[in-house]
Amino acid sequence: MSFSTLGLSDEIVRAVVDRGYTDPTPIQKQAIPAVLLGRDLLAGAQTGTGKTAGFTLPILHRLSEKGPSGLDRGRPPIRSLILTPTRELAAQVEESVRDYGKHLSLTSAVIFGGVSMSSQVRRLKSRLDILVATPGRLLDHVQQGTIDLSRVEILVLDEADRMLDMGFIRDIRRVLTLLPKQRQNLLFSATFSEEIKTLAAGLLNNPVMIQVENRNTTPDLVAQKIYPVDRERKRALLAYLIKRDGWNQVLVFTRTKHGADRLVKQLAQDQIPALAIHGNKSQAARTRALAKFKEGSLRVLVATDIAARGIDITDLPHVVNFELPNVPEDYVHRIGRTGRAGAEGQAVSLVCVDEHKLLTGIEKLLKRSLPQEVVTGFEPDPHAQPEPIQNGQQRGQGNRSTAPSASSRPKSSAQMGSSRPSLRSRPH
Ligand code: AMP
Repeated sequence: MSFSTLGLSDEIVRAVVDRGYTDPTPIQKQAIPAVLLGRDLLAGAQTGTGKTAGFTLPILHRLSEKGPSGLDRGRPPIRSLILTPTRELAAQVEESVRDYGKHLSLTSAVIFGGVSMSSQVRRLKSRLDILVATPGRLLDHVQQGTIDLSRVEILVLDEADRMLDMGFIRDIRRVLTLLPKQRQNLLFSATFSEEIKTLAAGLLNNPVMIQVENRNTTPDLVAQKIYPVDRERKRALLAYLIKRDGWNQVLVFTRTKHGADRLVKQLAQDQIPALAIHGNKSQAARTRALAKFKEGSLRVLVATDIAARGIDITDLPHVVNFELPNVPEDYVHRIGRTGRAGAEGQAVSLVCVDEHKLLTGIEKLLKRSLPQEVVTGFEPDPHAQPEPIQNGQQRGQGNRSTAPSASSRPKSSAQMGSSRPSLRSRPH
């Protein structure tokens, strides 16, 4: 099956072919015809499945097929709103919108926090058909009266589960009140908690349901390996493996922002250039680090889980879990950064005695045990005693200093409310 048989216009098919895609992925095969028909959608799909094109292509088709009904203050109104949990994902989705829509006359923009409002305000004053945004900054613009969402025809909630994990539910509900009642809604989520089901039930109107195989849970193209090692020797082992195996583009995950910064310094001592991205870095620093890493001029990028969400690098060859995540699903997300769309990848985890329980949880989720290799010279001390992993350090790794990670999901709204900054001062 080719893209043209899905009902997409020639201009869109041409852009897809330019990009080098020949066949639609399973989510694209199912989502594109449904969205073209104007249906609501509930899609279970993780990043790596091709979901972005799954919603972007039919949205472009629908908007270009039928022009806006009337003008808003002399210009066409915003007709599609795509909400994402992180800045990086927002930027990538908008890049896809531009790329897939390059033969059309539709326009798009992205707005997220961490950068000045004024350039965004300027952008919002000119024609804008498709807006990609993170919820907090979007609401900042709403409050300033610099945005009008009352003519949105198609809404997308991308990675809805992540948005809820990061505490965006109230922001999302607020955004929903600003949209016209009559609209098309597309909800993408990797997992379906009760909270997501409640959100979907209130949002979607007789949706087409799609569940694509979570290719990340059976990452056939990713060679996974565990290196048992002592806690204090992880850094030396990482430097050794990078040099021994000649890894030139490695994404390394740490559990904490502090751990990420420390590792970058230590790698520099081993003459391995590295930069960190996490919630405490300015948006400019994050964008710069990611760009250097993508183009291949930075050997190692160290990231926390939330900062890395949505990083889309074609053929990323190596992912390293310097520390195992506290939530098994995050392991799957992490290694989903490699072995994408047919490319082979390698995911290695440096595991010390403190993390044996976490490893068991991951293997249970994957329904398989992972191969282990002890590197000569880095044999773990068989008498080493486990130390507790600091749960508290996990908090606040995301865009916002108060963002809870998946494992520290808020239990009650009161708990969340207490640590929540006001709308105006929100840091994302
Ligand atoms: P996504 O799940 O949207 O993050 O996409 C994952 C990766 O797959 C991205 O690098 C896309 O560029 C790529 N991709 C999307 N659709 C296709 C396709 N039909 N064929 C090959 N690669 C694709």
